[in-house]
Amino acid sequence: MSAQGPRLRAEVSHDLCVGSAMCLSLAPGAFRLDAEGLSLFVVDNDCDAHLLREAADGCPMRAITLIDGQDEA
Ligand code: SF4
Repeated sequence: MSAQGPRLRAEVSHDLCVGSAMCLSLAPGAFRLDAEGLSLFVVDNDCDAHLLREAADGCPMRAITLIDGQDEA
């Protein structure tokens, strides 16, 4: 990934995720389901930060944690 300044990222807890795929609908391109049907954040995506927040808010299991790129040095 290139250094383009701070970007919002997401992490999905597989302890919580039930594979409802809601996040894939709310933030197209930002998530995919792994072989076990659990959501993974697609790191190299151009998803809008607003949509990522919608996905995190819309996850029925609250499995998505947003990480502000500025937190990383
Ligand atoms: S919306 Fe939540 S529970 Fe559903 S697949 Fe995405 S992270 Fe998993």
